[in-house]
Amino acid sequence: MSDSVSNTTFSDRNSGKSDLINPTLVLNCGSSSIKYALISEDESTRITGLAENLGLDTARIKHTTLNGEKLEITIPGGRHELALQKILALLEQYHFVAVGHRVVHGGREYSKAVRVDAHVLEEVKRLKILAPLHNPANALGIEAVQAIYPDIPQVVVFDTAFHQTMPAVAYRYPIPKALYEEEKIRRYGFHGTSHAYVSERASHITTAKGPHGWLTAHLGNGCSAAAVYDGKSLDTSMGLTPLEGLMMGTRSGDVDPGLHIHLKRLLGMSLEEINDMLNNDSGLLGISGLSNDLRTIEQAANEGHVDAQLAIEIFCYRAGKYLASLSCALPEFTGIVFTGGIGENSVTTRARILDVMRHFGIKFSEDKNKSLFGGGEGSFHDEDSSIELWVIPTDEECQIAKETRQTLGF
Ligand code: ADP
Repeated sequence: MSDSVSNTTFSDRNSGKSDLINPTLVLNCGSSSIKYALISEDESTRITGLAENLGLDTARIKHTTLNGEKLEITIPGGRHELALQKILALLEQYHFVAVGHRVVHGGREYSKAVRVDAHVLEEVKRLKILAPLHNPANALGIEAVQAIYPDIPQVVVFDTAFHQTMPAVAYRYPIPKALYEEEKIRRYGFHGTSHAYVSERASHITTAKGPHGWLTAHLGNGCSAAAVYDGKSLDTSMGLTPLEGLMMGTRSGDVDPGLHIHLKRLLGMSLEEINDMLNNDSGLLGISGLSNDLRTIEQAANEGHVDAQLAIEIFCYRAGKYLASLSCALPEFTGIVFTGGIGENSVTTRARILDVMRHFGIKFSEDKNKSLFGGGEGSFHDEDSSIELWVIPTDEECQIAKETRQTLGF
């Protein structure tokens, strides 16, 4: 391990080392943040942290040690490389055996996680054409680890890979064929590690005989749904980019593709401005005019704020409508799995979405639904419901660590 970081001193450097056996480091390097988790081989112990505000003078690392101690470390200048060096220095003492990176786009080329080599790194960079904000930051993370720990094996786990099992009927857009063949314009889908994790977990805990057909609803700041049958994604709501599909915190989800030309003609907006508006000023924030945070909106709605009430209604209506349509992809419909910050916590959102799907013969217990929040896992359907209903907290870090170990044969 490199001496360039091993001399860095932090207050937790000598805290309990013993519980993290053969840990895998999971890195999620974004354009302005880096999330990380060090996860033991048996997945029972982890250290987590977040570097935020990268690129700004206010950049800092929020780190929780193995003993639960919280640290804040400033990153002068806010550079990504420096943040990564500091994170690696904090974790060095635990002798991680592998690094797994969340990479947003794997294009058509990657249908599973792969070990990093020079070619894979080049591919991650080349695919920035499909994920301009994310893939370059992901590549930076790979290079920073390579520079400090050239001997530690690294794996990339693509957000898109799980959805590569989608058939052409689900992934092609009805646009000229040449755009698919020459420019790779198709639906890819995202949140793959989350949909993989919760569908696998649901199949593990249900008593229903397999193969199982799940609709997985990942409702967080970003929202997507997937139809997963027998462990394979058959369709999903996000497309070429993570803008398609459900209404989200600040993203619109589906709009008429004619909106772009209309706004250009009407308001003289540029494509970049429209893209920015649809990604950052829309969704829950756009309709409510208040916030992208559902908790704030729910509170305002309860106090009579009409736009907040409408934001929730549209969110649930669109989610229910999408889930209903995605059920067409499943040969059998075993159940719905709710996950993500909203899916795991908002009892009323789950109930409203299911109300939109009222023709499906779904029956559930309000009390059981109310009991599931704050990290709880469980089902809330009635015995005579047509399908099962589950809340399963997602664990993308755990899934990435698992796929990293599997890829390396550990
Ligand atoms: P991200 O996509 O950034 O990982 P999360 O999965 O953490 O986001 O989800 C964030 C969303 O979850 C926010 O809209 C937040 O308001 C919502 N949320 C979290 N806890 C609750 C809660 N108790 N009730 C309602 N919404 C919640």
